[in-house]
Amino acid sequence: MIVGVLGGGQLGWMLGLAGRALGARCRFLDPNPDSPARHVGDHVVARFDDGAALQAFATGLAAVTYEFENVPVESARALASRLPVMPAPEALATAQDRLHEKEFFHRLGVPTPRYRNVRDERDLLETVVKLGLPTVLKTRRLGYDGRGQTLMTVATDLSPAWEALRGVALIAEEFVPFDRELSLIAVRGRDGDVRFYPLVENHHREGILRVSLAPAPDVAPALQAAAESYAKRILTELNYVGVLAMEWFERSGELLANEMAPRVHNSGHWTIEGAATSQFENHLRALVGRPLGPTDVPGVAAMINLIGEVPDLAAAEGSEGVHVHRYGKSPRPKRKMGHVTVTASTREELLTRLTRLGPVGAPALSAVGVFSTTPALDPRPPEVSDAAGTKSSPR
Ligand code: AMP
Repeated sequence: MIVGVLGGGQLGWMLGLAGRALGARCRFLDPNPDSPARHVGDHVVARFDDGAALQAFATGLAAVTYEFENVPVESARALASRLPVMPAPEALATAQDRLHEKEFFHRLGVPTPRYRNVRDERDLLETVVKLGLPTVLKTRRLGYDGRGQTLMTVATDLSPAWEALRGVALIAEEFVPFDRELSLIAVRGRDGDVRFYPLVENHHREGILRVSLAPAPDVAPALQAAAESYAKRILTELNYVGVLAMEWFERSGELLANEMAPRVHNSGHWTIEGAATSQFENHLRALVGRPLGPTDVPGVAAMINLIGEVPDLAAAEGSEGVHVHRYGKSPRPKRKMGHVTVTASTREELLTRLTRLGPVGAPALSAVGVFSTTPALDPRPPEVSDAAGTKSSPR
């Protein structure tokens, strides 16, 4: 059985690895000839909107999915007219536009930060009058890893923010002084069976995920239940099949939805070693109509992203509970080059194992508050203004 994957980054690579154990091969479509996923499946090198390439790609596939969110929805729709595309292109379309996404959440009663559509400079002014400052101005489309957004803190920030991002559709959101960022990985099978992993605590810097702690410490059962109930509404509404990631801000014990990703997610990498069934395996199980695997989590885990370059991991690699993943990409600033997951039975054991990792474990120790030579959490969105969301993807 062959599953088609639009995108061939590290998420595709990990899907391909999980597929092997299930007897499912993956075929990737990605314009980048050096895509990491090429090592674990067939690789069609073509643009996502190349009609002839899409035709050839689709031949013989059991189903198609995405590992990259900025795939043109039209391409997903064209494929969906021939074979099952999961999650459905509508989920992709919703996630690609921050305004539609927030309106969708609103319609389903899923709480979000207050937001407004910004069409012109006057809208921006009115928005700031309504929402107050600080406010975050974001491109509606093609934002990722904190790109295409800017924080307005004082009135004189408005004009530069507008100048930096104008020319594309925009949304403004109240800046949420959150207590922490959480995410929920959910999965729904073809038969409607739904499973959830525990909420994960995520730490970003410069808009890029650095560390995930799983399960998130000190989560009240009611908070987990709320996250699951909101995610379930979304899964049901979209008749969703596969893994859905929901990113949340937690503020005073309440959840506000930041965004959703209709795919496997970086904050779920820890499930490879830290859960009974990984997000990748469960995504594929859902796609091919197999029963979902259990999402039990026997211990605790910390996932550390390796950004820009892979440090010396020689000492780390032999250590107990340390799992190193290298994506085989060439180094580039802000690029996700690999990740390290540290698993343990208890929090104390996790801290000991992280300490043994030296500088590699430091971001996770900082995240759990053991020390803070660098700020554990920088809640300010980066003042990056890649307004066009150009495809200079750091993937
Ligand atoms: P995003 O690309 O929207 O996920 O934003 C990247 C990161 O910027 C988030 O993970 C948050 O750390 C921060 N951020 C985005 N939107 C807001 C907001 N409305 N309030 C506070 N922080 C935000």
